[in-house]
Amino acid sequence: MLVKIKCPKCATEGSLSLIESSYQGPYRCWKCRELFTISLENNELKSCEPLSQEEFEKQQEIEALRAKFKRE
Ligand SMILES: [Zn+2]
Repeated sequence: MLVKIKCPKCATEGSLSLIESSYQGPYRCWKCRELFTISLENNELKSCEPLSQEEFEKQQEIEALRAKFKRE
């Protein structure tokens, strides 16, 4: 499913495709390239916090690991 997310910085609407109705993780605005940690519940945005590039990379690593474990 596709969830619409409005960037808190530039108010541009982006979308995120999700497998589940809840999500917690990084989101990057396609327009201003700003990074956020978002939390979704039942397809609704619960929280959105600014994220540094460094932390974003850390989270990407965690996500990659998680995906790896799922496949096994
Ligand atoms: Zn933006």
